[in-house]
Amino acid sequence: MTEEVVLYERNGPVATVTMNRPRYRNAQNSVMTYALDAAFERAVNDNEVSVIVLAGAGDHFSAGHDIGTPGRDVDVSYERKAVLWWDHVDKAGSDQRFARESEVYLGMCRRWREIPKPVIAMVQGACIAGGLMLAWVCDLIVASDDAFFADPVVRMGIPGVEYFAHPWVLGPRAAKEILFTGDRFTAQRAYEWGMVNRVVPRAELRDTVDAFAARIAQMPAFGLALTKKAVNQAEDQMGMRSGMDSVFGLHHLAHAHNAEVSKDSLAGMDAKAMRGASEK
Ligand code: ZN
Repeated sequence: MTEEVVLYERNGPVATVTMNRPRYRNAQNSVMTYALDAAFERAVNDNEVSVIVLAGAGDHFSAGHDIGTPGRDVDVSYERKAVLWWDHVDKAGSDQRFARESEVYLGMCRRWREIPKPVIAMVQGACIAGGLMLAWVCDLIVASDDAFFADPVVRMGIPGVEYFAHPWVLGPRAAKEILFTGDRFTAQRAYEWGMVNRVVPRAELRDTVDAFAARIAQMPAFGLALTKKAVNQAEDQMGMRSGMDSVFGLHHLAHAHNAEVSKDSLAGMDAKAMRGASEK
């Protein structure tokens, strides 16, 4: 339990930020969220760093939000970084959920999307639900050919994960397919839909990312920052930011409905139940 949940390493102009809970397929708890934020901040402030790589230790990139490991810490207070709102811990119901998810999910993802340096997601194995959010906030995604993706939270009666980029990163038709079925999709399909930049054999994943990063690192830093902002602004002008805000309301309607009619805001589904359903 004492091992670091996020590792940081710089190699030349490339900083690699690695989620390090491999035993739990890098399920993201709040400790990890704030450790990721600190690592990104370190990379932003280091003038030697031109490109950031987000990685997951072990066989899988990320199984998503932590909904059931021994390190689950939803009731712990942390110093808030993403939004100016009150702490969730001493609140109840939607007041609590909205505060918490605005901060650690939607707010954090938006904050990371605006990191002024290029970020490459290096994805192997599972990239599920909250894992997709982490990959999507990155500018580029390089996946190994054994990577698989899914957003199965419609099984909980919830219209997708909190960072609702699906229609923008997949296109509306593919977005509906992956949400309506909850099924896994392969790196190759993600590539065909334009969600992923490169698909390579697992053994070539790191080298491919390093070559990509080295190429990008030759560009001027300010030019890259402006270019990233330009594309992000264009996405937002295509409705991504305001669309996400409107869907966040639907997301919380679903959580509240679950809390009203079932065992909890996740419709009584834990990690095991979600895994079981996805294997049917
Ligand atoms: Zn939620």
